[in-house]
Amino acid sequence: DAAVNRIAAGEVVERPASAVKELVENALDAGARRIEVDYADGGKTLIRVTDDGHGIPAEALPLALQRHATSKIDGSDLLNIHTFGFRGEALPSLAAVGRLSLTSRASGHDEAAEILVSGGSAPVLRPAALGRGTVVALRDLFHATPARLKFLRSDRAEAQAIGDVVKRLAMAEPSVGFTLRDVSGGGEGRVLLRLDPCNGDLFDALLERLRAILGREFAENALPIEAEREDLSLTGFAALPTFSRGSAVGQFLFVNTRPVRDKLLVGALRAAYSDFLSRDRHPVAVLNIGCHPELVDVNVHPAKSEVRFRDPALARGLVVSGLKHALAGAGH
Ligand code: ADP
Ligand code: MG
Repeated sequence: DAAVNRIAAGEVVERPASAVKELVENALDAGARRIEVDYADGGKTLIRVTDDGHGIPAEALPLALQRHATSKIDGSDLLNIHTFGFRGEALPSLAAVGRLSLTSRASGHDEAAEILVSGGSAPVLRPAALGRGTVVALRDLFHATPARLKFLRSDRAEAQAIGDVVKRLAMAEPSVGFTLRDVSGGGEGRVLLRLDPCNGDLFDALLERLRAILGREFAENALPIEAEREDLSLTGFAALPTFSRGSAVGQFLFVNTRPVRDKLLVGALRAAYSDFLSRDRHPVAVLNIGCHPELVDVNVHPAKSEVRFRDPALARGLVVSGLKHALAGAGH
């Protein structure tokens, strides 16, 4: 069973950033208003995510580590997913590839509890001290599989990937505060990103968050995007063509606020700008497609970053027309 867990785990946890993604998504699903992400040595020795969400009752801690145990859907409703998580795979996968500790105090409970598990050994449950919320720490990722460890990139590259994941999720949830710290070598660590919760209406909050992440210049060159086609909506900000980049790193795409990497949507984005940009320039945009969960399948891959629209042409058409309209209105 430990071996089976390790193999399945490899699909969920490819690198430290994928662990960070799963843990931050869990914190968001738990209704956290503030999330802290700490890591050491590019996340290879430590990843720790602290949240102020609703927590996990002590008696439910062992269950949270069981494969396919999820408190989020009942299995009959795979087509109607409103949470980031739904497969119940992340925590057991993390426990299979590192030393995992889960400390939590559920709201309405007087005491916190902690569960520790490492390398398929029996979990240890004990009382702990914690004000509220949940702290999940993953230590020594891939320590039991040196071959996997060797495939990781430099601490710097892995740290960069962690930063990217946190930024993407922070764009998806502007009302949640985020802190990212490098705590290599112990001590207080170095704060790399501090994002205060952004309030106000959707567009104000998002623009404020994007100003903090992508910079003032982006915010000043960004056009609000709002469009609809049948049952799909498109919202976000897209930069003027003059703010384009020489590399394809400025495209942040979301479906129902879930960060996705999707060729169809990137292609649509490029097509919308094609009249204004030469082939070697890339648009910068942050776009969310909203739709009923039944119209899109996110259950394509364990990492849940691939999506399949029921009507891909509709999604593409929405992005192309929504952006072209905004660009035309801006005099382009
Ligand atoms: P999934 O997110 O797909 O449900 P996970 O393995 O990521 O599966 O988590 C298992 C369960 O543990 C969740 O369904 C949830 O009940 C609980 N859980 C995990 N992380 C947190 C958290 N930060 N706060 C509250 N509950 C959590
Ligand atoms: Mg999860």
